[in-house]
Amino acid sequence: MALKIMILGANGFIGSALTNAILRERDWEVYGIDLSDNKLGELPRERRFHFVEGDITINKEWVEYHVKKCDVVVPLVAIANPAQYVTHPLRVFELDFEANLAVVRHCVKYGKRLIFPSTSELYGMSPDAVLDEETSPLVYGPINKQRWIYAASKQLLDRVIYAYGVRDSLDYTLFRPFNFIGPNLDNIEEPKEGSSRVFTQFLSNVLYRRPFKLVDGGLQKRSFTYIDDAMECLLTIIENSGGRATRRIFNIGNPDNCVSIRELAERTIRIAQEFPELREAAKSTEIIDVSAGEYYGKYYQDIQVRVPAIEAARRDLGWQPHTDLDTAIRRTIDFYVKIGSFNPLNAAVSGL
Ligand code: UDP
Repeated sequence: MALKIMILGANGFIGSALTNAILRERDWEVYGIDLSDNKLGELPRERRFHFVEGDITINKEWVEYHVKKCDVVVPLVAIANPAQYVTHPLRVFELDFEANLAVVRHCVKYGKRLIFPSTSELYGMSPDAVLDEETSPLVYGPINKQRWIYAASKQLLDRVIYAYGVRDSLDYTLFRPFNFIGPNLDNIEEPKEGSSRVFTQFLSNVLYRRPFKLVDGGLQKRSFTYIDDAMECLLTIIENSGGRATRRIFNIGNPDNCVSIRELAERTIRIAQEFPELREAAKSTEIIDVSAGEYYGKYYQDIQVRVPAIEAARRDLGWQPHTDLDTAIRRTIDFYVKIGSFNPLNAAVSGL
């Protein structure tokens, strides 16, 4: 019998990539729900993809019924964008924590396997140069730095899931994404500045001919991970042959792609110039500095460096990332060029 996978948030960045990877590379059935289907393309026509448009906080019976019916539950509905942690902290708590806790409890009740997205943000301002799933301390700022509501919500869910594993033998895997990038991360045609994560914000700035803004000089570093590499890892986790991912935590990240935000900006400008449609706009893109206070407001606090330890995934899942940062940038730009996002007419339609 083919596995039945339930994906909550199937139209999100990870959800749409995962649905696509499953339908392409495995014979599993996917039951998906999301608010809309704009990132899914032709996928809803596929025989093995059962998609409904809906809101998991409203369509609660659908959610419980499908947890009961499926073998593996992947709840990917969450706000995962720092700009929103500081502007809508309670929405982050209600969706990322409360709505997901209900799903976790259904998995406990029906004895289903749960693949839960933890986050690299969980490590916060950890002093460890390389962040380890089992040993690194999790360090946050004071309550008046509302940025940490996301990490704190996720941390508590990790702890709840872990405790269900100890007490009720819940079969789970926690995975921690490290700055996944690729097609469909955020809507680059969104004209409002400051609404996307850094890489997609930069692409949007090329489209709208705005300068790249480096928060506090852009010396802070992230390890950017190409979405296709990450999906290979997730498929292995879902497959779980020999139970090797059961009750485990895995960082999913690419330590070889650890660069400063300034370096990301420079590379994005350089690579964008390879595309005739973008050459002029990219050439004239300026890079300017802004303070974190100006960019995000007073509730923000930053993380200086974030490098994943990936020995666990390497050793126990046989996985390692192989897409270098330039290739990841190039493939993502290529995607947006092909769907016409950089066509100036689209910007005109968006009202600019
Ligand atoms: N950042 C920046 N310019 C922007 C957007 C973000 O310099 O236009 C910085 C931000 O302060 C952070 C890093 O880029 O240090 C990554 O931000 P992102 O929102 O992608 O997510 P994070 O990795 O912090 O979760």
